[in-house]
Amino acid sequence: MMENLYAERFCTFDENFKRVKEEIAEAAFSSGRKPEEISLLAATKTVPVEVINHGIESGLSLIGENRVQEFLEKYEALNLQQCQCQFIGTLQTNKVKYLIGKVSCIQSVSSLKLAEEISRLSQKAGLVTRVLVEVNVGREESKSGVLPEALEELLWQLSLLPGIQVQGLMAIPPASDDKSKLRAYFSSMFQYYVDIRAKKIDNIFMNCLSMGMSSDFKEAIQCGATMVRVGSFLFGRRAY
Ligand SMILES: *Cc1c(COP(=O)(O)O)cnc(C)c1O
Repeated sequence: MMENLYAERFCTFDENFKRVKEEIAEAAFSSGRKPEEISLLAATKTVPVEVINHGIESGLSLIGENRVQEFLEKYEALNLQQCQCQFIGTLQTNKVKYLIGKVSCIQSVSSLKLAEEISRLSQKAGLVTRVLVEVNVGREESKSGVLPEALEELLWQLSLLPGIQVQGLMAIPPASDDKSKLRAYFSSMFQYYVDIRAKKIDNIFMNCLSMGMSSDFKEAIQCGATMVRVGSFLFGRRAY
């Protein structure tokens, strides 16, 4: 019999998956929330399809890829009957065409130009693509995302595009060991999320607040995240 090349990775995943679910539940309870309010997206960059499909069989219902090329190489082999795949990486306008109809949400919309292209190609395909708007909450030059003060105007513009539907916000705050700094960023995001929702802009929904990764998803949940994106905690450290 052939030995499964991935047996060890499957096993690591199973243990980690259980722990992540437990920690999500603890973080939810500790802040008076229900674990069901928080979805877990597995960030699968660099993870082989065999391991991702094992994760899906074990109950993952949401995965996210970062790079268009890598996503396309994996796409046909992914078992997406029971699982949605979203795009979570920085996206160039000229690559949008590879994603339309294949991903259930694009989390990284940060400009009108990108949104217009997603809308145009979605309409051409007879679809409406769900998107999140990425906010550069730490005002970092190296990061994409719209600056907080430009968020509302961008949303008004996006509300007019027929081929997209904004479902919420996404952020990647500056990495920090200082939990209070992280909490401040996550809390700002939650405040934008609540403020925008109160404005009731047509075609703009605030159903999803995607923030928190392996090292900080508990803080993100305590500050109001409805989706956390976890990679290395589930799959082990990435080997590039
Ligand atoms: C890689 C990645 C994650 C997960 O990061 P980990 O620290 O491995 O959990 C989350 N979000 C985005 C956008 C990513 O690229």
